[in-house]
Amino acid sequence: MAENNLSKEERRQSEAEDRRQGDRRKRLQPKPPKGPIPGNGFLKQAVIAVIVFVVLASTYSALSGVGTGSETVSISDLARDVTQSLVSEIVVKGDSISVKYKDGTEKSSKKEESTALTTTLANYKVPTDALNKVKISVENNQGLGFWILSLAPIILPILFVIFFLWFISRQVKGAGMQAFSFGQSKARMIRPDDKVQRITFKDVAGAKEAKEELSEIVDFLKNPKKFLDIGARIPKGILLMGAPGTGKTMLARAVAGEAGVSFFSISGSEFVEMFVGVGASRVRDLFDLAKKSSPAIIFVDEIDAVGRVRGSGMGGGNDEREQTLNQILVEMDGFEPNEKVIVMAATNRPDVLDPALLRPGRFDRRVTLDLPDRKDREEILKIHARKKPFAEDVNLTLIAERTPGFSGADLYSLMNEAAILAARENRTKVGQFDLIRSIEKVMIGPERKSFLLNKKEKEIIAYHEGGHALVASVLPYADPVHKISIISRGRALGYVFKLPIEENKLQSKKEFIDDITVTLAGYVVEKNIFGDVSTGPSNDLQVASALARDMVTKYGMSDKMGPIAYEREAGRPLPGQHFEERGYSEEVGAKIDAEVSKIIDEALKRAARIIHEYRDALDDIAKKLVEVETIEQKEFEEILISHKIKLKRKKDIEHQP
Ligand code: ADP
Ligand code: MG
Ligand code: ZN
Repeated sequence: MAENNLSKEERRQSEAEDRRQGDRRKRLQPKPPKGPIPGNGFLKQAVIAVIVFVVLASTYSALSGVGTGSETVSISDLARDVTQSLVSEIVVKGDSISVKYKDGTEKSSKKEESTALTTTLANYKVPTDALNKVKISVENNQGLGFWILSLAPIILPILFVIFFLWFISRQVKGAGMQAFSFGQSKARMIRPDDKVQRITFKDVAGAKEAKEELSEIVDFLKNPKKFLDIGARIPKGILLMGAPGTGKTMLARAVAGEAGVSFFSISGSEFVEMFVGVGASRVRDLFDLAKKSSPAIIFVDEIDAVGRVRGSGMGGGNDEREQTLNQILVEMDGFEPNEKVIVMAATNRPDVLDPALLRPGRFDRRVTLDLPDRKDREEILKIHARKKPFAEDVNLTLIAERTPGFSGADLYSLMNEAAILAARENRTKVGQFDLIRSIEKVMIGPERKSFLLNKKEKEIIAYHEGGHALVASVLPYADPVHKISIISRGRALGYVFKLPIEENKLQSKKEFIDDITVTLAGYVVEKNIFGDVSTGPSNDLQVASALARDMVTKYGMSDKMGPIAYEREAGRPLPGQHFEERGYSEEVGAKIDAEVSKIIDEALKRAARIIHEYRDALDDIAKKLVEVETIEQKEFEEILISHKIKLKRKKDIEHQP
């Protein structure tokens, strides 16, 4: 029952989505070519062509009288028969001769066309008087049939070739049509009167600053005269920047919906296709289209696909991409102020964009979308909860608290997963428990219960994860543990689920060091307790090293290296800089490496000390994990208390400097 309800709802939604997408595409793309599908259609037509050819050829040969059925006689025999006065009548028709004998038989023969029959027979020494006794008549052979027959050998092959070309061209027409439409834009369009697809700011939760910034654009699109009269220059381009899933695409649509204007959207990667010059002509096409239906918004999604720094040699120095980008710039420069077309673009990589795109008069307005904070997450959850039936116990505030770092898209899929879980277990309402389980699913991937571990492996993983959890609980600046599990999920064999007590935007040096120590704890446990290291901690080591390196090179957290940023954000070279080039010398590089090793070494020692000191607690945690596989916060805290480890509470942290 429940399953039906929910899955029907889901299905209906996804169907509607499909339909919408389909409609959107259909509207602007050339109709798909009709006609035979290449492949089996081609074979069928080829067979037909061959049959037609065979029929024509045999008709021809029948008409031309080759082997008309009657017996043939050679000219020499005919001469003999005439001499012996056996022949009564001869009819000559072009080069064919039909002979009537006195005994009633009829025979046919052939002669050379150019010489008269009488001459031929005379050459065979037929006496003239014998010849005179035969009635010889010559029939006119200039009729239609004659012409058809004599021209057929020339015309038939021509006809055949024409026919062949015709049906080949029908095959190619499908592909050919596409070839002609390559230059057309593939943009999808949402009309202002499209009730189904129209979304407004109300549908976008949070993102307050972004909405405020964009409401100015909405204002202009709604009432351009007011702005133009006062001589205000309206921004031509707006760049939306933000992590994937923060709602950039959604917000761009909402601007169009809010202003009630047409919305053209295309993805950067769609510009770049097989043929050179296509991208540029698509841009032209798209801008023309938008100008015709102005006021309008052109939205270029994932603009980094075409808008990367030009001529840097990165990304293969794609000429096509550059031409497309140039065309976008040209079109934007060519806008008249009264054109009322605004270009919006989205990217999650603003750092790789060509500076030319960011110049005044182009994408000079930039709107940043951050990952939602706790309050915004709750609002996003509420928006996506609108269509779902919830049980009494659902507390979205709690879910919002437990999902730091989730994007809007993550929260959407969390809601969806929860509904699917409830439906799978035949419940009509989504419960809090479904939502909590979905957090982990979205975060780390689905549980892989079928992934069997042998007893020894299970023990190692239990100690490894127990080590992370123990060290996290002992160190003052590490996030407290909410759950430990040795059920593998995604690529992880086990995991410790930690949550910050407070969501803070800044991370201190002490927190960094504690984080690194917690991350290395699994490795230390394997080495010190089992005397061997497995491949398990390899990801831990990568994370710890990266954190340590960032401390030294980005955040100035090493006393020795001082507050110098040796690497830019994301370690990206400046435009024009060579790929491998770094902002520091070999010597400095060696010093950085030494500092990184020092941080790692100290963290390893700290972790080892804690594990040694609290070995009993670790044994208890691991034993319990092997037994039940998953320990929730409460049970875990009980173990900690029984070993006199102080629990972390909000107050304690606030008192710390
Ligand atoms: P982006 O383009 O930034 O990658 P999208 O706009 O495609 O992200 O967002 C993906 C989905 O995430 C949206 O369809 C929506 O369901 C959800 N989402 C993201 N941000 C929000 C938000 N602020 N409010 C409501 N839903 C959101
Ligand atoms: Mg997007
Ligand atoms: Zn680990």
